[in-house]
Amino acid sequence: MKKLFLLLALAGITVSCNQPVKQQTAAIKTDSTQTGIRVVDNGNVAFDRYFSDKTMRLDYDHSGNSREEHFAVDRIVSDGPWPGSRFVLIDKLELGSYFFQVIDKESKILLFSRGFASIFGEWSETPEADKTWGSYNESMRFPWPLKPVSVILGKRDPQTNKFKTIWTADVDPASREVNPADLVHSNTVDIIQENGPASEKVDIVILGDGYTKAEMGKFKADAKRLSAVMMEQEPYKSRKKDINIRAVETPSEVSGVCKPHPGVFKRSALGVQYGVFDSERYALTFDNKTVRNEASQVPYDFMIILINERTYGGGGIYNLYTTVSVDNKYAEYIMVHEYGHHMGGLADEYYTSSVSYEAKDIKLEPWEPNVTALLDKNNLKWKELVTPGTPIPTPWNKEVFDKFGYEVQKQRDSLRQARVPEEVMEALFMRQYRQEDEFFSREKFRDAVGAFDGANYTQKGLYRSQLDCIMFTRHMHFCKACQKSLVSVMEQYTAKAPVK
Ligand SMILES: [Zn+2]
Repeated sequence: MKKLFLLLALAGITVSCNQPVKQQTAAIKTDSTQTGIRVVDNGNVAFDRYFSDKTMRLDYDHSGNSREEHFAVDRIVSDGPWPGSRFVLIDKLELGSYFFQVIDKESKILLFSRGFASIFGEWSETPEADKTWGSYNESMRFPWPLKPVSVILGKRDPQTNKFKTIWTADVDPASREVNPADLVHSNTVDIIQENGPASEKVDIVILGDGYTKAEMGKFKADAKRLSAVMMEQEPYKSRKKDINIRAVETPSEVSGVCKPHPGVFKRSALGVQYGVFDSERYALTFDNKTVRNEASQVPYDFMIILINERTYGGGGIYNLYTTVSVDNKYAEYIMVHEYGHHMGGLADEYYTSSVSYEAKDIKLEPWEPNVTALLDKNNLKWKELVTPGTPIPTPWNKEVFDKFGYEVQKQRDSLRQARVPEEVMEALFMRQYRQEDEFFSREKFRDAVGAFDGANYTQKGLYRSQLDCIMFTRHMHFCKACQKSLVSVMEQYTAKAPVK
């Protein structure tokens, strides 16, 4: 991740949120044997027997450095009605660098689980974390248990290919320290699309930062515009009826958000700021509780925060949130790309940067569903999608593509250093877009699913499923492997009956 950080710092790329190469692992199975966890009913217990229709939000502080991490409960509150499925309670996808399980304390029956990634996880891989401590507030959300539970947090261990328990918190819902009161909200909610009950749909909440009260009309229009763009892309297009989108108006006292690199300092309602981890285009908020409190006005599984800015930027963290600058020429791309990280745990498929790296000896399979180390080419993770007759690995004119890719990176770096206006950078991106378009049209395997060398910040030795994808370039479509994994996630939130 030192490398990833360097890449981000130098190239200022809209960022991924994924695990660095050094933490790649092979097919994961949660290690439940050590804790005596019992799995019954295929992991999906009868909801009403163990839960009431509320969301419990366990806020905690996650502190440490690159060598150690520590946890402390902050508070436990109600986060509104339960928005997730009542039939798929355990997360069999097991994506992300962290994974939590909720266990009935008495019977040790597994009740709920979910994978996620975190800001701490990213920060702990930066050079700064070698020298100092950091602390971030995070939340785990799960259905409100009727009886005492243990919440077991695991972190991916690259040595064992399993999630290793790093913290356990016991929660008694009857305790005076657990607050079941719902927040009273007064913000306006705009329904972008509503297709049915939250427990049977993917529920997306859109918040806005850096919009003043007078700009609420713009927020609403931005939320509608970017939602419509997303719904035009597969796999969302075919499953539009499975998705609810609600926007909560969260006005700020100032227009725009904090941008430390050009010296623009502001305090907006949700605390979004550019320049995260010193990467100029990486925009996140660290005000976890503020954001969660605002979001809980509506049921939500996934969250998008619109940034009322022209400056290119955003971010997406698996099962945390997506951020996107709405007035940039590439806002639509940023929205779809970053949401891919957030909902699907997708890796970046691009690898070019202004820095060259030597080929690595990759021994472990990445956890992300859209990249592979191709350790067993007969057992490709998207093998059922492979186009018959396609060689694995799949040949492509990588040298030609890389040559202009690196040229663009160089220009990009010098333009950024020169602090040129945003439209100059946008024009460079447009030239790159056209060049790539033309390149792909000449490629023999342009439409095939195979295994193409170069992915996830790694020039050689990590492979993607198709030549092009929105996780690779700014072209507005997902590759087949990305589409398949997004569908798998959506199915976890939309099941209407017990899963056998
Ligand atoms: Zn893809």
